[in-house]
Amino acid sequence: MMREDLIAPKQYNIAMEVEKYAKDKNKKALIWLDENNNRKEITYQALIRNVNKIGNVFLNSGLQRGDKILIIMPRLIETYEIYLAALKTGIIIIPSSEMLKANELEYRIQHGEVSGVVAFHESTSEVGKVPNFAELKKFSVGHTVDGWDFLDEAKASASDELEMADTTRETIAFLPYTSGTTGNPKGVVHTHAWGFAHLKTAPENWLGVEEDDLVWATAGPGWQKWIWSPFLSVLGTGATGFIYSGKFEPSKYLELLQDNEINVLCCTPTEYRLMAKVEHLEDYKLPHLRSAVSAGEPLNVEVIDTFRKHFGIMVRDGYGQTENTLLLGITKDMEVKPGSMGKPTPGNEVEIIDEDGNIADVNIVGDIAVRIDSPALFREYYKDIERTKASRRGDFYITGDQARKDEDGYFWFEGRRDDIIVSSGYTIGPFEVEDALVKHPFVQECAVVASPDKVRGSIVKAFIVLKQNVDKNDPGLIKELQDHVKRETAPFRYPREIEFIDELPKTSSGKIRRIELRQREMKNL
Ligand code: ATP
Ligand code: MG
Repeated sequence: MMREDLIAPKQYNIAMEVEKYAKDKNKKALIWLDENNNRKEITYQALIRNVNKIGNVFLNSGLQRGDKILIIMPRLIETYEIYLAALKTGIIIIPSSEMLKANELEYRIQHGEVSGVVAFHESTSEVGKVPNFAELKKFSVGHTVDGWDFLDEAKASASDELEMADTTRETIAFLPYTSGTTGNPKGVVHTHAWGFAHLKTAPENWLGVEEDDLVWATAGPGWQKWIWSPFLSVLGTGATGFIYSGKFEPSKYLELLQDNEINVLCCTPTEYRLMAKVEHLEDYKLPHLRSAVSAGEPLNVEVIDTFRKHFGIMVRDGYGQTENTLLLGITKDMEVKPGSMGKPTPGNEVEIIDEDGNIADVNIVGDIAVRIDSPALFREYYKDIERTKASRRGDFYITGDQARKDEDGYFWFEGRRDDIIVSSGYTIGPFEVEDALVKHPFVQECAVVASPDKVRGSIVKAFIVLKQNVDKNDPGLIKELQDHVKRETAPFRYPREIEFIDELPKTSSGKIRRIELRQREMKNL
């Protein structure tokens, strides 16, 4: 595939990619299941009818094409309908997780000049704490709430016919905010054209979705990853999405995969890691699972090994950001090199570049960068020219992550630029050390950061969450873990300091915030 193949037609609305499947009246779009085994299903045709009704409710309320709405919804069928209704009417979506707190919502509402909010009833009280919230148009879902219009009721009496807004490929579709792993979240401008580029890049090549597959992508609504996988990659390919609204519980997930005969799975590395540590894995049989991918954080080699051994499936890594779509990945027919994020996805020019913007030599660590004119890339950081400029070097957008490319063209993740540790002149990526540590049977989770040191500049320090039955006061434990790392990786990387903690600091999307641990170390200096 060439770069040109990723460019959308001029008149374009991403909602049409889903609507085209509504012609077949039996085609199943979504299957929803909760913790109590309540089950719902919907066809593409019924889904689009609901989309039209909701679109009419939006327009009747005075919302217009180009307005921005915040959508705060859990894993429900209605969530898909609301997103599609906004796209179809040309209303810009700011996806927001139900886990966001009032101050995080306020940031998005102010910065994104939001006109309306659509929220599941359980999230309305958090929105209510935002100053000036009275000025917004508000729709509650699932239950009536004082002061909010009830979307379910309005939808019931609305017309199920709706014309698609005549958007172009340059019309803004989404304004997602980054996870905020390293600072204030950034508003990322994505057009309908980005949606097209994403559909060409990820679903078939990487996720391995085929029409009529049952696909379970576990990301929660409100994150860009939900838009990538469970939303666009499933409904944009005519597959059937599996939605589980219950809590993450590793053995329950394995049971669901087995019992529902899932064909394609997309999970976070943490979910894979915890599933791989479930006892008696041999009790689960997953013959229907054909494709399994991971994205969002580095994927540990240990996990890949376990899934291969027990289920005969290679978990394939993929790398991307809120700012783009899948940039690197082990695509479906590519040989897996465990620990590598794979190669640039078709149509995307991704390189490792040095400080001067030159392409780095083989196996030399540098910045992961993308040609700025790549269709899979965002337009700009919303109302933030400085940050947009700062993210560019010559003809490249700088991802902020570092990696190296080997002689076969495979990329190996080194770390976020800010997370890289420089100790006695050595450059150490935290991931390699973490990868070694989690292989140890006593380790549940860990994060490795730089800790300031008078002699070495920085030393490698590991924060470790131990498995439940391990005694952290065991006098030989620290040495045992250090020796283990020295055996698994180049000895200069071993953590000179180890601290045991009960929980790692994480973003509400579950990403480890090394920045917090690093700042703690700075303070302790
Ligand atoms: P912020 O930009 O606000 O600090 P964030 O970068 O965590 O937050 P996202 O856009 O959700 O927000 O995450 C993208 C980042 O996640 C990437 O830049 C990279 O650091 C990490 N990442 C994603 N996929 C992978 C992967 N397969 N391997 C390693 N890291 C990954
Ligand atoms: Mg980022």
